[in-house]
Amino acid sequence: TPLVVAIDGPSGSGKSSTARGVAVRLGLANLDTGAMYRAAAWLAMHEGLDLADGPAVARLVREADLDLELDPAHQSVTVNGHDVTQAIREPEVSAAVSAVSTNLDVRADLIARQRRIISEARSGIVAEGRDITTVVAPEAPVRVLLVADAAARIARRHAELGGDVDAAAVHDQVVRRDRDDSTVAAFHDAAPGVTVLDSTDLNLEQVVDAICALVPP
Ligand code: C5P
Repeated sequence: TPLVVAIDGPSGSGKSSTARGVAVRLGLANLDTGAMYRAAAWLAMHEGLDLADGPAVARLVREADLDLELDPAHQSVTVNGHDVTQAIREPEVSAAVSAVSTNLDVRADLIARQRRIISEARSGIVAEGRDITTVVAPEAPVRVLLVADAAARIARRHAELGGDVDAAAVHDQVVRRDRDDSTVAAFHDAAPGVTVLDSTDLNLEQVVDAICALVPP
């Protein structure tokens, strides 16, 4: 059966770069599940929905055509024909995404889509998010929870945003999103068999090495 590598971690833990690095190294596809929640939030805002209207948001997402390019070298996201690859990284989407991702009907829908994508990945896949090791792909032979000190995560997010952004604002963003996300129970479930990897003092290559070393022969 094709290899599945599941990677979870909070924002700024480096999981996106790590997942891409592992996918490139091992020749696997790469699924960024956060991009799906971001695309759902973008669409709800684009359609002018009240994000607090759970049933309306869930219906919009259920009927949405969501398309992800899984090649780690050319990742892109299209929703209802709009290429939102760049737009979903905007601060307005980052600030709104938890309101959509804590909607349990949206989660059920996106989790089903994620499981389908993983099961259809003929040459194997790295799937990355918050609940991949626990809910989406608990049977994956490689399951990793990436952690890093809050200070390291804030510094990485700051560097990612180009450094010309206010440091205090980045701090607020990271800490606020951790808190907003914290109402989803699946993110806390103790997950036996998951390898916890602390990346605070490791560079990207060292983290990729550590994960590749977990792949069964
Ligand atoms: O990984 P990223 O920071 O892009 O994820 C954006 C948001 O999507 C998270 O803050 C969280 O609200 C949501 N998310 C989720 N479940 C996942 C991945 C992301 O709820 N598996």
